[in-house]
Amino acid sequence: MDIPELTGVSDARGRRIVLMSHCLLNANSQVEGLATWSAIHPVVLALGASGVGIMQLPCPELLGCGMRRWGQTREQLDFPGFRALCDRLADDALASVVEFQRCGYEVLACVGIDGSPSCGVNHSASGAWGGEPEPAAWASTVSVVGSSPEPGLFMAALRTRLDAVGVRLVPAPDASNPAAVAALVTDLTQR
Ligand code: SF4
Repeated sequence: MDIPELTGVSDARGRRIVLMSHCLLNANSQVEGLATWSAIHPVVLALGASGVGIMQLPCPELLGCGMRRWGQTREQLDFPGFRALCDRLADDALASVVEFQRCGYEVLACVGIDGSPSCGVNHSASGAWGGEPEPAAWASTVSVVGSSPEPGLFMAALRTRLDAVGVRLVPAPDASNPAAVAALVTDLTQR
């Protein structure tokens, strides 16, 4: 069903949408010390310039852990309360996607952040961290951050839902690599 038939009107909208991890549009939600872009990731600007609308996902760590959180690993966040938060947020995102699709809009992809324990697509920060941060022992523990081949917990919750409606997950390119940014925009818009 397309919208002109449904409503009898048309306008300037492009009818194409990409879901984006929250911090791609707002670097301020990232753990202090980790942001590599000042505000808006260049891939967001490039997609907008090509006529694609951006649906900003909520930041699960901002909601679940606040802005004074430390950087954490996937294992630290992998507990029922955080998974339930991710499930709720993913359910809401799915409801919007299904409604857009029902009304004839094209949802091109969901863009996450590789390395994040929440929003990683192909890998996420991993390590058996935890416990009292006693300086000497803790320093040696957190000096090593591993990488799990599993997605972050929010992307995992989204994947189980978005696979069913044909929306793929892709990682954001390096913000300092214009060629990688352009390649992703081409991949998303010229399929
Ligand atoms: S949880 Fe996701 S949206 Fe929030 S800061 Fe980390 S990567 Fe960005």
